[in-house]
Amino acid sequence: MTDVHDVIIIGGGPAGYTAALYTARANLHPLVIEGFNYGGQLMITSDVENYPGYPEGVLGPKMMDDFRAQAERFGAKFVRDDVTRVDFSEAPFRVYIGSDEYRTDAVIVATGASARQLGLESEQRLQGRGVSYCATCDAAFFPQKTVVVVGGGDSAMEEATFLARFANKVIVVHRRDEFRASPIMVDRARENEKIEFVLNAVVDEVQGADAGHVTGVRLRDTVTGEETDVAADGIFVAIGHDPNTELFLDWLDHDDQGYLVTEPGSTRTNIPGVFASGDVQDHIYRQAVTAAGSGTMAALDAQRYLEELRHHPSVVAAPA
Ligand code: NAP
Repeated sequence: MTDVHDVIIIGGGPAGYTAALYTARANLHPLVIEGFNYGGQLMITSDVENYPGYPEGVLGPKMMDDFRAQAERFGAKFVRDDVTRVDFSEAPFRVYIGSDEYRTDAVIVATGASARQLGLESEQRLQGRGVSYCATCDAAFFPQKTVVVVGGGDSAMEEATFLARFANKVIVVHRRDEFRASPIMVDRARENEKIEFVLNAVVDEVQGADAGHVTGVRLRDTVTGEETDVAADGIFVAIGHDPNTELFLDWLDHDDQGYLVTEPGSTRTNIPGVFASGDVQDHIYRQAVTAAGSGTMAALDAQRYLEELRHHPSVVAAPA
């Protein structure tokens, strides 16, 4: 039998590290299983200029190091590995990394979501150097520039419209000639004279490896196969997000896209003692600051749950 932790936090992004800070300061000795690729989506961003408290901006990875160090200062412990399985059938809950078993009275799930990528090597190489997955975060870096937005859903339309406030020209590249986006969002983008559309086209290559930043894209017409080079200073990939919830789908209520469902106004899942925070349960706001706020909520919810469990165990319902 292994020791039972008070709380295990799964995920090392803004939500997980903030939950760690709060639970550590509440003397709950959190263990954070932060993932092999800790830091989450901020590891592939450039400067973060919209997180309060950094007036000069901060690099995403540096900000995550700061979050982690602050939680560590109050005693949070970290495991830099991926959880491979969970068993929430009874309390204490079980969390596994391979054959290593960890037992815990409470779990905070903060595994985030991943922006879908095009899957190009050139895209990976230029991430944070003109390849972005978040217009809210990075649009201001492209004043009077030309940018490409990939996608035909509401996100692509929204990002294109937002980018047009900064950029000189926004080229929306969509692989079909019909949009997944709602007509009102498409109309809004179409009415904007800075926005152009290239339909039936996919990005085959992001150019600029030699320059060290994006200089353009190579497009392929999906009907004729013809290739065209288009000069651009940035490319915003807006083809959706996937929540990192595969491990939890058998246990926790989720929507049809896999996002975990929490009780409104709280981070409680359908299993008492298991909480979800950050992008794993939020497909709307998706900001570091909202994820951090949600991590705080999860820590406070877990703290209250553990107090009840210690003092009134009979009123804390066991998982079904
Ligand atoms: P989405 O609706 O899934 O749309 C993704 C788009 O990317 C689709 O047009 C898809 O093309 C394209 N795509 C997917 N994989 C691709 C690839 N490998 N290469 C090229 N194109 C690819 O995702 P979303 O736009 O992020 O929206 C997600 C949800 O949030 C939706 O329910 C949406 O309504 C909602 N949302 C709402 C608002 C709003 O109302 N303000 C704003 C943003 C998002 P196909 O169409 O050919 O599949």
